[in-house]
Amino acid sequence: MIKIENLSKRFRTEDVETTALNEINLEIKEGEFVAIMGPSGCGKSTLLNILGMLDSPSSGNYYFNKQEVGNQKESQRNAIRKGNINFVFQSFNLIDELNVFRNVELPLNYLNVSKADKKARVLEVLDRMKIGHRKNHYPQQLSGGQQQRVAIARAVSANPKLLLADEPTGNLDSKTGLEVMNLLTELNSEGTTIVMVTHSERDAEFAHRVIRLFDGEVMTEKTAKEFATIN
Ligand code: ADP
Ligand code: ADP
Repeated sequence: MIKIENLSKRFRTEDVETTALNEINLEIKEGEFVAIMGPSGCGKSTLLNILGMLDSPSSGNYYFNKQEVGNQKESQRNAIRKGNINFVFQSFNLIDELNVFRNVELPLNYLNVSKADKKARVLEVLDRMKIGHRKNHYPQQLSGGQQQRVAIARAVSANPKLLLADEPTGNLDSKTGLEVMNLLTELNSEGTTIVMVTHSERDAEFAHRVIRLFDGEVMTEKTAKEFATIN
């Protein structure tokens, strides 16, 4: 599904140039659940932004389903992203002015789906995230764990092939975080490819594979099993 070749990302602010990613090579297969770990500033967010086509590499290639997307124009990247990729964030990023139903409906508004089908899909996905009983609530009326379940429902309502999660349990207590990891695992087992940035070793154990970044380079790639034994 994903192939990254000799990909670098450099940022220039005034006179300072930062190499956030340095000649990265990476492949992710459809159906995988991959965790990305590493110290603050090592390039995790930059990599996730590029995978999500929110940003483009300075050099190198990014192939998504065999199509080169890294060097496409922004409008082209946006078109490819829609329907293929969605996001879950540490801080939930729900729209406070919209109730739960409307938040989860958002990605469907970009697609050619009838009103009735949209409603059915939103209710189905809310149910699966065990948050259907809160569909008329507003984000601020929900607990953190509930907000993240809504955010995951929104991320998958349009059936993306790839789900990118940036520290999805970072603002949750341990038990609630575990529930969120179980939901992600369930989605993955039903076919959604997941790439998750995490600082949590427990969460990384849910992944099939752990990619460790250090200073913009891939240091180690461990299967979850190997990872568990060295930690
Ligand atoms: P996290 O490690 O929690 O993912 P961030 O990705 O928000 O944190 O930030 C990591 C580092 O990248 C920080 O040192 C931050 O200052 C820097 N950074 C992120 N975005 C920008 C930006 N737009 N301009 C300058 N520095 C940034
Ligand atoms: P992480 O997510 O692992 O904390 P980041 O990908 O946010 O790391 O950042 C990697 C490096 O790139 C850091 O040195 C950060 O300060 C820098 N960086 C990230 N985004 C920007 C930006 N928009 N402008 C300038 N520097 C940035």
